Amino acid sequence: MGNLIPDKIKRQAGLLFHMGRKYTCPFCHYSSRDLKPIGIDVPVLQDKQVVGGGKRFGGCYKCGSYDRERLVYAFLKEKMKIFDNGNEKSILHIAPEHNLSKILLEFGFREYICCDLFAPGYTYPKHVLNINILNIPYSDHTFDLVICNHVLEHIPADMRAMKELKRVLKPGGSAILQVPISKNSLVTYEDFSVTEPKQRVTVFGQSDHIRIYGQDYVNRLEESGFKVNRINISREFIHYGLNPDEDLFIGDRQLPSILR
Ligand SMILES: [Zn+2]
Repeated sequence: MGNLIPDKIKRQAGLLFHMGRKYTCPFCHYSSRDLKPIGIDVPVLQDKQVVGGGKRFGGCYKCGSYDRERLVYAFLKEKMKIFDNGNEKSILHIAPEHNLSKILLEFGFREYICCDLFAPGYTYPKHVLNINILNIPYSDHTFDLVICNHVLEHIPADMRAMKELKRVLKPGGSAILQVPISKNSLVTYEDFSVTEPKQRVTVFGQSDHIRIYGQDYVNRLEESGFKVNRINISREFIHYGLNPDEDLFIGDRQLPSILR
């Protein structure tokens, strides 16, 4: 009998059912009393208390946006005030999330470059360029802002990628550098000999991850030359449907000391 009900009606009924006042999605403005379960339940992610990964209530029932995408938007809008201070910024967005990217694209920043490392069998929006994060084809000091949300945990040479991101930032510019991170591990766990997707799920929690960052993630960013600000705005903007445990890692490229 259930199969006779059209999907559109099921969807509308679902949206009515979850409607509420606790959360409002900043992308589609749907207000809900709860969030959709997302992610997969893998023991290693629970054991290591990985924030930003694993099964959790973090999806918008209407547009499908994730908690981590809304967190970056909350920071850009509410803290950086990126939409209040003109559109003069140059932005590089690595592996752009759909909803966030749409808003940034439509705002008309001076430069808004989206890129990804194209994988066979996938299609990408036409404004996304095929770029390897280890070799970004832009000169030094090009961007005011880099957004790199849940990318580095896929990259074996992550510190080379960090240095490359820093290279293309202008002095005084900032990079948003989010990764899944273990709350209870001081040290990052990585093992490049684990290559089978199924094995990676067991060991790292996802088929294309090659490490689980520990609390020393900040040290890696600092060793790559960033001045790191680790901040939590998730509790302040919890109505966006954010994970209260998820911190932001903002890497600043400092101005030369003579200008500070
Ligand atoms: Zn939404």
